[in-house]
Amino acid sequence: MVNQINKNLLESKIIRKLDLSDLMLKLWISKPENYSFKPGQYCTIGVNGIERAYSIASSPDEDSLELFIELVDHGELSPIIWKMNVGDKLTLRPKAKGIFQIKDTNYDNYLLICTVTGIVPYVSYVRYFLNNNSHNMKFHILQGSSYMEEFGYSEELLTIAKEYPDFVTYLPTISRPQDARNEKWQGMTGRVNIIVEDYINEKQLNIENTIVYACGNPDMIIDIKDKLGQNIGFKVLEERFWK
Ligand SMILES: Cc1cc2nc3c(=O)[nH]c(=O)nc-3n(C[C@H](O)[C@H](O)[C@H](O)COP(=O)(O)OP(=O)(O)OC[C@H]3O[C@@H](n4cnc5c(N)ncnc54)[C@H](O)[C@@H]3O)c2cc1C
Repeated sequence: MVNQINKNLLESKIIRKLDLSDLMLKLWISKPENYSFKPGQYCTIGVNGIERAYSIASSPDEDSLELFIELVDHGELSPIIWKMNVGDKLTLRPKAKGIFQIKDTNYDNYLLICTVTGIVPYVSYVRYFLNNNSHNMKFHILQGSSYMEEFGYSEELLTIAKEYPDFVTYLPTISRPQDARNEKWQGMTGRVNIIVEDYINEKQLNIENTIVYACGNPDMIIDIKDKLGQNIGFKVLEERFWK
């Protein structure tokens, strides 16, 4: 039975919390009966009337809503979430929202570019389309972060990419290779909006066979829209996490 706090808000509960670092955590919250969403949509959760949007990493067929949250310095809600525990209650707006979805399944390639938590909608796409990919779409996921501990889904994505190389390619890159926190990093370096140009050439992606998605940091999105959209002519869909 769905517990309705008032006529606009549902109740949800933290069922699992995983701290990945001082600044990143994963949260699984209960999914009220009849709550539905499409891969790529976001939910709006709240505590004491402070509400924020969070993209959903789960596939719609999962039992809970999985969120990947970054602690924002001097933010209002994220520091509160940091102190919450399993069993604590949150509010949930009754409808998931957002048009950052895969509506056109006719492209061969989906170039999915993101920074840090911007990976979340792409995780949902991968989990869902792994079992629903009748059009043989290929996802090329490029994720940029400052620090290696910010790649909260690299293990899952690399595993799927290894098993289904025609379905997913995953390329994480860090922008601060000299920082002590990255001393164990052995992968790609450079900003994601820079390395994407070589990637496009190497994989021979073009405006007929590829659509571009950009999610996360607004400066990265502006640059991608400029370089790949305006200059080359790719169709670019975007989801900005802040202004
Ligand atoms: C559609 C959508 C989906 C989102 N999905 C996620 C998600 O999956 N994971 C996630 O962690 N956040 C996500 N966000 C951001 C989230 O809604 C909050 O803005 C964020 O958690 C900060 O909330 P706060 O109350 O702590 O800080 P606020 O008090 O709201 O913000 C403080 C300041 O920080 C800015 N800001 C917000 N987020 C960041 C950031 N990551 N880095 C730097 N500055 C920031 C705000 O614009 C503001 O200027 C999403 C936002 C949108 C619009």
